[in-house]
Amino acid sequence: MFPKPKPPPQNFRVIHRPAPEGTGAEHNAPSQPLPPNVYISPDVPVNKPAPNWLRMVCISDTHNTTDANNYMIPEADILVHAGDFTKMGTTAQIDQFVCWMKSLKHIPLKIIIAGNHEIILDKPFYKEKWHRFHNTQEDHQAAVDKLETAGHGIVYLNNSTFQVDGAKILYKKWQKLSKQELDEQEPLQDIHAIDIDDDSGAVAATAADTAMVVDPREGWTMGYKIWASPWQPEFFDWAFNEERGKLKEIWKHIPIDTDILVTHGPPKYHGDTVPRQNNQHVGCHELLNRLKVVRPRYHVFGHIHEGYGVSQINWPSDNTQQSSQPTVCINASVCNLQYRPINKPIVVDLPPK
Ligand code: 5GP
Ligand code: MN
Ligand code: MN
Ligand code: MN
Repeated sequence: MFPKPKPPPQNFRVIHRPAPEGTGAEHNAPSQPLPPNVYISPDVPVNKPAPNWLRMVCISDTHNTTDANNYMIPEADILVHAGDFTKMGTTAQIDQFVCWMKSLKHIPLKIIIAGNHEIILDKPFYKEKWHRFHNTQEDHQAAVDKLETAGHGIVYLNNSTFQVDGAKILYKKWQKLSKQELDEQEPLQDIHAIDIDDDSGAVAATAADTAMVVDPREGWTMGYKIWASPWQPEFFDWAFNEERGKLKEIWKHIPIDTDILVTHGPPKYHGDTVPRQNNQHVGCHELLNRLKVVRPRYHVFGHIHEGYGVSQINWPSDNTQQSSQPTVCINASVCNLQYRPINKPIVVDLPPK
């Protein structure tokens, strides 16, 4: 039924592929050391290499398993969630997720995209097919608003760019507090708006408590450009599904200067093997083609739960337009195939740009 998988291209290298618990030796690719400054939580150094580095924690496919995960999200400057944060995209499930994000007071910024399970967030899909999933039709726009106006450093992206440039959000004040004092504060509650300029991608964060938005000369500068999208190749007609062969229409919008690409699904050959289907690579070929041109420093995704882990693409030095620095691919799926949250967040320390 499934064709024998083609061997991956030469530059494919699995860096770290922990075998999922209780699933046997599905992952036959050799495990190698992680790339520099990439960690599997909780094996993360207490301190970043320098305070002006940016610590990014990557998760995906948490599917409303919030309670089980709450304790294991390490402290970071930015969290990336690559979609499938609900079980079945109901308003109540989105509420639960937002509530969890708000509770992560040790992370000032949270970049979030939808996945195919967030059916209510795909407007045309939900309008036509809601009855396949929900008993009653819920309000699409209200669900989007919940994410877009959540505050607390939550940024919902949908084929859009995010870049911190100019505004620096610091939580210096909070870092000096003890854990107990931190718990007593509700600092992120005061960040009531994050504005993204559609043209420049610049971000301004405003907070009631000025201690949280500080002098731009202090602390970290992000400078990294993130572009994020919920779309993935069609599989059983879920939200944000597009026919294979047509996704290049979406991927052409990935800015050429993207540093961190976030998509729900993997590119072909990276964190995309489905063991129960003869190790077939189900990642998006068109996404890989765009990756070859854009060459972001990091590509964060999930969707194929079995593909959890990190790999690296080493680019040939033939392209004078683009850097030949490798792209680190991070499949951050927290849940396994049985939707149990067994995989740990993947942490990256980024130098100032
Ligand atoms: P989810 O329903 O959470 O989006 O995906 C769960 C699982 O469905 C994945 O871990 C993977 O096993 C399977 N899956 C998702 N997309 C595809 C696909 O395009 N092809 C195949 N063969 N399996 C997929
Ligand atoms: Mn999933
Ligand atoms: Mn590039
Ligand atoms: Mn998915």
